[in-house]
Amino acid sequence: MQDITFTVKNVWPKLDPGEQNLVGELAEEYKAFLNRARTERETIAEAVLLAQQNGFVTLRQVERLRPGDKVYEINRGKAMVLAIIGSDALESGGNIVAAHIDSPRLDLKPVPLYEEEGLALFKTHYYGGIKKYQWLSVPLAIHGIVVKQDGTRLELRIGDQPGDPVFTVSDLLPHLAKDQMDKKLADAVPGENLNILVGNRPSAEASQENQEKEPVRKAIAQYLYQTYGLVEEDLVSAEIELVPAYPACDVGLDRSMVGGYGQDDRICAFAALKSLMDITTVPRRTVIVLLADKEEIGSEGNTGMKSRFLENFVAEAVARMDHRLPELAARRMLGNSRALSADVNAAFDPTYKDVMDKNNAARLGCGVVLTKYTGSKGKLEANDAHAEFVAFVRRLFNEAGVAWQPGELGKVDQGGGGTVAHLLASYGMDVLDCGPGLLSMHSPFEVASKVDLYMAYKGYKAFLSAAG
Ligand code: MN
Ligand code: MN
Repeated sequence: MQDITFTVKNVWPKLDPGEQNLVGELAEEYKAFLNRARTERETIAEAVLLAQQNGFVTLRQVERLRPGDKVYEINRGKAMVLAIIGSDALESGGNIVAAHIDSPRLDLKPVPLYEEEGLALFKTHYYGGIKKYQWLSVPLAIHGIVVKQDGTRLELRIGDQPGDPVFTVSDLLPHLAKDQMDKKLADAVPGENLNILVGNRPSAEASQENQEKEPVRKAIAQYLYQTYGLVEEDLVSAEIELVPAYPACDVGLDRSMVGGYGQDDRICAFAALKSLMDITTVPRRTVIVLLADKEEIGSEGNTGMKSRFLENFVAEAVARMDHRLPELAARRMLGNSRALSADVNAAFDPTYKDVMDKNNAARLGCGVVLTKYTGSKGKLEANDAHAEFVAFVRRLFNEAGVAWQPGELGKVDQGGGGTVAHLLASYGMDVLDCGPGLLSMHSPFEVASKVDLYMAYKGYKAFLSAAG
């Protein structure tokens, strides 16, 4: 008999032992992925590896595209489109799952190194929406690239391998924090205070001569030169990110959760990639997974969702098929597509229940979240998926045994947020936000449920393979 009342339930008791094993296996793979993919570039590198292992080739290597072909393109190492060509005409549209792979962090400034009172420090400029106080007194790792004037690239990764030194932003001891503690939380840590501790040992020669003005800075500059051949000017053309140094791990005595950095939105990127790799027969509709950069700063730039990366990929694909009107075919393909904007939502936190409408908030462990609309102040800038499309996804998930729940991002007028959903929708396709709920979103240690990850993976797979 059909349930006439709607309740959201924890997924664990509903899983048979076989599926419980799959949940555990997926979580192990996910943690390893998170540990390797700490930046947008490292995430794309992981995705390329996975794609190549599963028979994907770059689109430009293919002269004629045929059903079943597996192709991808990367955009400056920071964004990527992967596709499996379907047997239906491309114009009838594709099934798209789009996640973003950038996460909040601290970026080094172009001239980062300075010395003050015998300490060498790096200046940073934070990226994305962070609560600054959360980034103090945390072990941090350096991940990034330096491109020298001659174009040679140096990849840096210091702080998360055994024996590595780590870096940190110091905080004030409570004994002397009277004035700081009186401040509003938002003002307590100014952005210019997010300085990274990198050294305290003067260079021997500078100390001997006893006339060097900044002997510790000099020593760090020497270290960078001797170890990596870097001069300070090289750091102007660099992208160096400070990310938490500790690995992802299980959370809870029951090990039901995963804690770690960058789960917004690499949990969705991972689930989307895994589900795509599971498609081993020729799909009816063309299947696409899109990994976008810059979502956390408004999807700007040529690797963000506001660029024409997806559109250009489709145009390139159309050019490799027989189409009398290629321009129209590409537009039809995009307009007739349907998409899941694969992004996380906030899970209900009983410690902060005042900001949530308890009937409409997502619960950790209760399945992947369908978010009809995001936005703020009356759905401003939201995609607000159509009822017809939400019904389509709901039926698809119910038929495939995907545990899902509806979710809204907090109480009305409490704040809000957005995803890439409205940007995908601008092509004319139907879009719905769909991803796991997180606790401590945007913090250096976000928490997700293992079953929600599994249901996201299962849901994306059902969506990508949907023929009708
Ligand atoms: Mn996100
Ligand atoms: Mn975010």
